[in-house]
Amino acid sequence: LEKAFSFMIRIRVPGGVATPHQWLETDRLATQFANGTIKLTTRQAFQFHGIIKTNLKRTIAEINQAAMDTIAACGDVNRNVMCNPNPYLSEIHAQALKAAQDISAHLTPQTRAYHEIWLDGEKIESSEEEVEPIYGKTYLPRKFKITIAVPPSNDVDIYANCLSFIAIVEDGKLVGYNVAVGGGMGSTHGNEATYPRIADVIGFCTPEQVVDVAEKVVLVQRDFGDRTDRKHSRFKYTVDDHGPDWILAKLNEYLGYELGPVRDFKFEDNGDRYGWVEDANGNSHLTLFIAGGRVLDTPTYPMRTGLREIAKIHDGDFRLTANQNLIIANVSPEKRPEIEKLLEQYGIKDSHLQSALRLSSLACVALPTCALALAEAERFLPTVLTDLEESLEENGLRHDAITIRMTGCPNGCARPFISEIGFVGRGPDHYNLYLGGGHAGQRLSKLYRENIASSQIKPLLAPIFSHYAKERNDGERFGDFCIRAGYVVATVQGPDFLKN
Ligand code: SF4
Repeated sequence: LEKAFSFMIRIRVPGGVATPHQWLETDRLATQFANGTIKLTTRQAFQFHGIIKTNLKRTIAEINQAAMDTIAACGDVNRNVMCNPNPYLSEIHAQALKAAQDISAHLTPQTRAYHEIWLDGEKIESSEEEVEPIYGKTYLPRKFKITIAVPPSNDVDIYANCLSFIAIVEDGKLVGYNVAVGGGMGSTHGNEATYPRIADVIGFCTPEQVVDVAEKVVLVQRDFGDRTDRKHSRFKYTVDDHGPDWILAKLNEYLGYELGPVRDFKFEDNGDRYGWVEDANGNSHLTLFIAGGRVLDTPTYPMRTGLREIAKIHDGDFRLTANQNLIIANVSPEKRPEIEKLLEQYGIKDSHLQSALRLSSLACVALPTCALALAEAERFLPTVLTDLEESLEENGLRHDAITIRMTGCPNGCARPFISEIGFVGRGPDHYNLYLGGGHAGQRLSKLYRENIASSQIKPLLAPIFSHYAKERNDGERFGDFCIRAGYVVATVQGPDFLKN
C-alpha cells in the first residue's frame, strides 16, 4: 500500500493569455482532479493543488488536449515568460506579447522526453545522442526567469527577474527594448551569502533582436553561472560576481554586435489597473482583484461559478496578471451587457470597493500546499489586511496604494523584498518585517523587525501609518517615507540588503 501522495501541477501560460475554452478546461480539471480551486500564480500561470499521484498522468494529458502544457514550468531552464497584460495598450501590447511568446517558444526545451513520459509519445530512436540546442547536455545552473514590461506599468516586476525587456515607445511606436539583467528574490534565512537583488538595466535592443538577446543572455548564464553551489547559482549572482559591465561585454561578444545605450523610461507602479477600460477598437477589459490569486467558490461568493458562466459566452480572452489578478479581456460591445449581468448575478465584486492596500497586496501559496513554507501567507494575509485597514481608515489612508506582500519563506515567490511592506515567514506565526521597498518595485526593502509574532504586526505598523499621514511630503510614497523618516536605511543593491 502506498501513501496518498499529492502533487502540484503548474500550467505554462506564455504572456498569461488563455482562451475561454482553456479557462473552461482548466476549471473542469480543477474539479475533476485537483482541490476544486484554480490558483493564479505570481508568474501568470495556473496551478492545480492536490492532484493525487494516480491522476497525474491523466491530468497532464488532458491539459495538453486543451492546447496547454506544463513543459518548463519547473526545472533548470527558462520558465514562463511574463508580459505586461494591459490589452488596452493594444498595439504595443500585442507586439510585446508576441515577443514574449517568441522568446518562450525559442527557449522551450526540445527534448521529446516530456511527450514520451506524460503523453505516451513514441520513443524516437536516434544514433546520435540527443543534445538540447540551447541548454546543451547540462541545462542551466538554476531556473531562469524572463519578463517584458510596457512602462509606465512595471506590473511584471522587471527588477526581480533574471532578464527583462522594457518596451521603449517613441512617437506611439515600439522602437525596441531596454535590457535588464540580474534580478532575483530568493534567499535563505541565516545565510549571508544569499540575498535578493534588483536587475541592472544594461543596454537597448531592437524588436528584431529581442529573441537573439534572450538566447545569448541564457548562454552567458549557461556558460558562466555557478554549478558548484545551488545557493549561488542563480543569474543574479553571476551578474554580481562579474559585474554588469562584464556581463554586457560578454553578451555583446556572444551576440556579435553591441547593444545600444539605455533609453529613457519611467515606471510609476507595479500594481494592476482595476475596473473596466475601453480601448481604441471599442472593446472593453475588466481587471478583477482575486484575493491570493485563488479562484474558488465559497457559500457567500460563487466567483468560480460566475467566471465559468462568463467563459461560456465570452468572445475575447482571459489574461492573468503577475499580481495574481484576472482580466476579462477583449470583451466586444455586444457581449459586455451580458457579462455585466453575470458579474452582478454572481456578486463578483467591484474592485473599487476594496481598500487600496488590499488591491496592492500579494501572497504566495505557502501552507498547506507548499512544502517549503515556514509560515502562512495566502490564507493569513487577508486577516492582516483587515487589521491594518482599521489603522489606515483612522489615518485617512484608505485610498493610498501601499504595496504589501507576504511569503511563507525567503524564496520570495510573491516578491516581498521589493514591496513597501514585506512579511517573510520565519516559523509558525512568525515573520520578518521589511520596509522601504520602492513603490514601482525599483528598490529593495530592509529588515525592520526580525521574527515577530503576527500579533505584533498591527502595533508596529499603526504608528508608522499615523506618522506617514501627518508628515509625508506631497506625493511621497510609503516606502520612500520609511527611509526619509529613519525607520530603515535605503538598500542600494543586493549585498547591502543585510546591512543596516
Ligand atoms: Fe515560494 Fe516559499 Fe511561498 Fe513556497 S513558501 S510559495 S517556496 S515563497
